Amino acid sequence: SHETVRVNLGERSYDIVIGPGLIARAGAEIAARKPGIRCAVITDRNVAAAHLDSLMESLATGGIEAVPLVLEPGEKTKRFDELVKVCDHVLGARLERGDAVVALGGGVIGDLSGFAAGIVRRGMSFIQVPTSLLAQVDSSVGGKTGINSSHGKNLIGVFHQPDLVLADTDVLDTLPIREFRAGYAEVAKYGLIDRPEFFGWLEQNWRDVFAGGAARIRAIATGCQAKADVVAADEREKGARALLNLGHTFGHALEAATDYDGRRLVHGEGVAIGMVLAHEFSARMNLASPDDAARVQRHLSEVGLPTRMADIEGELPATDILMKHIGQDKKVRRGALTFILTRGIGEAFVADDVQADEVFRFLEEKR
Ligand code: NAD
Ligand code: ZN
Repeated sequence: SHETVRVNLGERSYDIVIGPGLIARAGAEIAARKPGIRCAVITDRNVAAAHLDSLMESLATGGIEAVPLVLEPGEKTKRFDELVKVCDHVLGARLERGDAVVALGGGVIGDLSGFAAGIVRRGMSFIQVPTSLLAQVDSSVGGKTGINSSHGKNLIGVFHQPDLVLADTDVLDTLPIREFRAGYAEVAKYGLIDRPEFFGWLEQNWRDVFAGGAARIRAIATGCQAKADVVAADEREKGARALLNLGHTFGHALEAATDYDGRRLVHGEGVAIGMVLAHEFSARMNLASPDDAARVQRHLSEVGLPTRMADIEGELPATDILMKHIGQDKKVRRGALTFILTRGIGEAFVADDVQADEVFRFLEEKR
C-alpha cells in the first residue's frame, strides 16, 4: 500500500515514502536507514496536538533518541528569532553533524527546520515528515529552505536536500479542509504543467483523493514524482524548475496585495486563481483554446477552490497594485515580463516576452 519515489541527485539521492500509518513506522524506517542516529523533532502547536506523541513513541520504539521543540503555527514563524531557537535547540541537544533535524509539519516548519539543518554544523542530516498536502507534494521535496524578510518572502535561505521524506497520508485527515484544498491546487498544477492524463484522472477521481485511501496515495505519489523529475533536472532552479511557478506570478501578486492575510487568501488559493488566469491569458494571446481555460476553472471550482479574483473576500486590490507586485516578482527581466503560459492542458511553457500592458488590460477586464 506504500509508494516510494526516488529523487535522483547522485550521491544525495533520497526516497520519498508515501502511504498510511507512516508516522507509526517512522522509527523503524529511520533506524533501518540511519542506525544510531539521534534527532531533534521540530513541529508547530497544531501538528503537535495531533501527531507529536505518535511520532515520539514510534522513534522510541525504533531505539532513536529524540528531543522535540514545539513552535507557534503560522507563516510568521519563518523568521530569524525562530531560526535561532531551532539552532539552539539542536546544539543544546548535543546533536552531531550526522544526526538529524526532523521536520514534523507543513511547509513553514519544513522550510525553517531545513534551513537550520543546512547551517548548523555546516549541514546536518535532515528528515521531512510533511503533514500538510502542500508540504507532501511540494515543499518537502527539492531542498529549498528558508525564512522570510521584511523585503519579501523566502529571501533568506539555502538549498539543503533532505535525506528522507516520510509522507503519512493519514495525517491529512486532521488538516483543515481549506488547507487540504489549497494543497490540492498544487497537485492539479502538476497535471496542468505536463501531465494532461493526470489532470483528467483528477477530474474523475478528486472526491476519492479528498476521502483518503488509494486515490489519495496515487495523487500524492504522482505529485511527488512530478516534483522529483523537475528537481533532478534542475536542482538549483536555473531553467526547467521555473514551470513549477505556473499560476504563481498572478497568485503571489494576489497574496501580496491582500497582505498575506490567510483569512482572505491562502497560498494555494492564490495559485488556483492564478492558474485560471494563466490559462485565460494564454487563450487571450491565442496560444491556447478558451475551452481549456474553462475546463481548469470548472474543475478547481468544483473542488471548492476560489477561481476568480471576485471570489476573494473583501475589497479587490487595484490592478495597479497587482501590477506593482507582478513587476517586483523575481521573474522579471529586461522590461518584458516572464510568465508561465500554456498551449493547453499539460502544455505549460516559459514565456519571457510578455508585455506588461497586455497583462494590465487583461487584469482590468478580469476584475
Ligand atoms: P503551514 O506549514 O503553515 O501549515 C498550514 C496550517 O496547517 C498550519 O496552521 C499548520 O499548523 C496546520 N497543519 C499542518 N499539518 C496539519 C495536520 N496534519 N493536522 C492539523 N493541522 C495541520 O503551511 P503549508 O501550506 O504547509 O506551507 C506553506 C509554506 O510552505 C510557505 O511558507 C511557503 O513559502 C512554503 N513553501 C515552500 C516550498 C519549498 O520548495 N521549500 C514550496 C512551496 C511552499
Ligand atoms: Zn506554490
